[in-house]
Amino acid sequence: MSASVFNKDIKYLPGVGPKRAGLLKEELNITTYGDLLYYFPYKHVDRTTFYHVRDVQPGMSSIQLKGQIKKFELAGKPNKRRLIGHFTDETGVIELVWFRGINWIRKSYQVNKDYVIFGKPTLFNSKINLVHPEVESLENYNSRVQTGFEAHYNTTERLKKNYINSKVIRKLQNNLIQEASDRIEETLPEWLRDQLKLYPLDKALLNIHFPEDQQKLKMALYRLKFEELFYLQLNILQQRTHRIRKFQGFVFEQVGRLLNEFYHQHLPFQLTNAQKRVLKEIRKDLGSGQQMNRLLQGDVGSGKTLIALMSMLIALDNGYQSCIMAPTEILATQHYKSIRQLLATMPVNVRLLTGSTANAERKEIHEQLLTGELEILIGTHALIEDTVQFKNLGLVVIDEQHRFGVAQRARLWKKNTQPPHILVMTATPIPRTLAMTVYGDLDVSVIDELPPGRKPVKTAHFYESKRYRVIDFMRKMIHQGRQIFIVYPLISESEKLDLKALEEGYDNILRYFPPPKYAVSVVHGKMRPEEKDKSMQLFVKGQTHIMVATTVIEVGVDVPNASVMIIENAERYGLSQLHQLRGRIGRGQYQSYCVLMSSDKLSDEAKKRLETMVRTTDGFEIAEADLQLRGPGDIEGTQQSGIPFELKIASLGQDNQLLQYARNIAMQVLDEDPDLEEEKNQPLVEQLKILASKKSNYSVVS
Ligand code: ADP
Ligand code: MG
Repeated sequence: MSASVFNKDIKYLPGVGPKRAGLLKEELNITTYGDLLYYFPYKHVDRTTFYHVRDVQPGMSSIQLKGQIKKFELAGKPNKRRLIGHFTDETGVIELVWFRGINWIRKSYQVNKDYVIFGKPTLFNSKINLVHPEVESLENYNSRVQTGFEAHYNTTERLKKNYINSKVIRKLQNNLIQEASDRIEETLPEWLRDQLKLYPLDKALLNIHFPEDQQKLKMALYRLKFEELFYLQLNILQQRTHRIRKFQGFVFEQVGRLLNEFYHQHLPFQLTNAQKRVLKEIRKDLGSGQQMNRLLQGDVGSGKTLIALMSMLIALDNGYQSCIMAPTEILATQHYKSIRQLLATMPVNVRLLTGSTANAERKEIHEQLLTGELEILIGTHALIEDTVQFKNLGLVVIDEQHRFGVAQRARLWKKNTQPPHILVMTATPIPRTLAMTVYGDLDVSVIDELPPGRKPVKTAHFYESKRYRVIDFMRKMIHQGRQIFIVYPLISESEKLDLKALEEGYDNILRYFPPPKYAVSVVHGKMRPEEKDKSMQLFVKGQTHIMVATTVIEVGVDVPNASVMIIENAERYGLSQLHQLRGRIGRGQYQSYCVLMSSDKLSDEAKKRLETMVRTTDGFEIAEADLQLRGPGDIEGTQQSGIPFELKIASLGQDNQLLQYARNIAMQVLDEDPDLEEEKNQPLVEQLKILASKKSNYSVVS
């Protein structure tokens, strides 16, 4: 048979028709039978168990009772009437309460008749109630198909207004399954299903919508989630194979004069073991003849810049140019300065190109790039521009990956006929499998060790009402000779408001820390670069005690003597941003402190974020928490980084183990049959095609 039942227009489904079809399309984007079948419930409610009245506790989730209403009673003031039904099952009495539709209820339900009641117990007037319960006669209940676990579906206000609620969707699913269940075409090959003991698709779909029991629901979920993650991985791994085959990598085989000179004569410290390991991984890639496509994860301050520099020296030793692209001008400048400093007297031509590079200089840089005279270029998005052409670009380093999209990376690739090696660096660690999924087919290296001697930053959260204590603490620290950052949130949509907050904050600080005894610098995005620089320099040189700044310092200055960071309105930041900010301190010999200031009222999620920051300095733990709190869809940049298919049932954050498993299986399949040519794998090829045609906003970087 054909796949046609999935494609059948939803308006033909009994119970739908043209009007409802229009609504379903507009509100839920459901246009076909297949769309509806894949409109999965957000929860299932246990209707297999009957509770006894005496066991009912407030706070239980929805429960089911069997019994009779013994009498009805009206209560409350005339304008706030409520109807109470005294319901009993011989183990006790419980009150059913209605505030609306009282007359209708009174008429429809009879005393001393057997009912099945379903509702959520709550405490009211120190009695346990079921407010607006579902009531169904036992007779009716027994006559319909038992679902065991009842599926609940999200709907919208508009759908509800048009009487399409969760119950109606359930009914439609029922009609659909009745009509189509024997025409659902399998989407996984039989051998794979057998091997992994997976439900067939029809059974899985039936049991996701109408599970008989918990076990079947579990099996259905497992099959559907696995399938989703499996095809996702298969797709990614296949593209990887293609890339590796299609593009050869420049082979950097020279051991290297410059690298050696740097390592032996200029490196101011020992590499950490993690740095050594990562460098080895990179060298292996660079010499392999395959194009490197590697993600380097490492916490703030773990020494990624050094790895980038040493990788670039390898490129240079082999006669190739390289570049670093950073997300902001300040960060690019910082890289430029620290790399210049590290290279000290070495004969390497390094230059900086940003939006504010003067025209004459820009022209010179362009020329030097073409002749090959310029060896290492550091800059911002300016590097992507078409006017920037290299003689032979061998290695591209991208810092802070999450701010660049796949498309932007692709433009860098195109600067050569043969794509350069790519090293992507990020300080936002995410679990390995997730990284590989969200960032396409990058290999992952991890620096999981900080340089020796760093003292973990101590973090505390203070509510606005306790600010006076923070001021005392600041004073104490200044008297000990330390310097302090105060950061105000900068949220681009309302730069004016942000600036106002900063200005007010600055005025406040001056009141507590008046000149001439204290000196305060200010830095914000609206200042001219020279002004900004001057103000920063004062702080860097230790001539000011406090620096009041917007988040421009996030990726900016390195001041070892600054041991306190106060983050204002900390509740407005995401976890990864807080983590980045905190990484600005704790770089020197002193114990450092991070103070998270927040308003007195906080959402639960904000509270959890701040608690996480107080609890740990481990970037991976923070990333994990971020994932739990927000889900991967919200992790900065994941949208544009291009997950090829939309996930309907699996969650990248929560199903991480299954993701790993699915990846392993996909790898096995491709190891055995790299081009998916075998007969038994044809269903996979088919399904990949269908999925790709459905979702194609994924621009492959190749
Ligand atoms: P990241 O970019 O990972 O946040 P950086 O590369 O900026 O970290 O390094 C942070 C600081 O640590 C820099 O001042 C750098 O010189 C220093 N550093 C890097 N590696 C080491 C090391 N192995 N030992 C001591 N200090 C190091
Ligand atoms: Mg860095």
